[in-house]
Amino acid sequence: MKLFDLAGRVAAITGGNAGIGFGIAQGLAAAGAAIVIAGRRADKNREAISALVAHDAKAAAFELDVGNEASCRSMIDRTVEQFGRIDILVNNAGIAIRKQPQDYSAAEWNKVIATNLTGAFLCSQAAYAHMQAGGRGKIINIGSMFSIFAAAYAAAYSASKGGIVQMTKALACAWAKDNIQVNAILPGWIDTPLTQSARSEVPGLNERILARTPAGRWGEPRDLAGTAVFLASSASDFVTGAAIPVDGGYSVQG
Ligand code: NDP
Repeated sequence: MKLFDLAGRVAAITGGNAGIGFGIAQGLAAAGAAIVIAGRRADKNREAISALVAHDAKAAAFELDVGNEASCRSMIDRTVEQFGRIDILVNNAGIAIRKQPQDYSAAEWNKVIATNLTGAFLCSQAAYAHMQAGGRGKIINIGSMFSIFAAAYAAAYSASKGGIVQMTKALACAWAKDNIQVNAILPGWIDTPLTQSARSEVPGLNERILARTPAGRWGEPRDLAGTAVFLASSASDFVTGAAIPVDGGYSVQG
């Protein structure tokens, strides 16, 4: 359907080489977008683009550390050099450090905030001028159930993901006049390398997730693709500043 067609659009996905980011990359590619995979590890970046190219997508990979401002700017500039424009930015790169708040060092706190929140801001800022010049843009920020809820072991992560929702609203207000829509997706519990480590570190987590999720299962990275295509496409041109849970009902179960 044309409303959801991304042919001719260029999408950069931070942390696109694994997990949720790769699931979103596959969805945007299937809808016709050219894809830039941007993560720290060149080997994982290469594997991801090989998989996309094998399905006839146009794809390139650039090394990116979202904790470094120059790296964020360079990734966006290289995207525009290679593909001529950037229409879609998915701020997905993220990490978790699971510890009680009293055990956090300042460096650990700063690393989580820098990766999950400041990096998303810097990449958005770098993309803004190009999107404005191109006459349109879609920014999709990846929040979390920890944008809404919290846990004792997730002070920095919850702060970063709560911040993502508020930053999304502020950027949406600022850039609507430039025809740039900024929205967030709040994934539920998705089976990825990040949560595989949580499952082994947090006793009883797997059982609690299954009991609380009305869908009765963990999500898969591909479960995020449909909402990402919607938010990347013309179908969502009057949707901005929203935070959409994609969680199998986790956030509505009392
Ligand atoms: P993964 O650990 O599977 O993937 C994380 C990705 O982020 C990797 O591609 C990694 O690539 C990249 N990354 C990490 N640090 C940096 C950095 N400094 N610069 C650039 N890229 C970086 O995690 P998920 O797929 O599970 O998570 C993706 C996003 O979704 C995160 O923001 C996470 O908080 C969020 N989320 C996940 C949920 C889940 O249940 N899995 C639930 C809710 C939200 P590389 O190592 O090459 O840099």
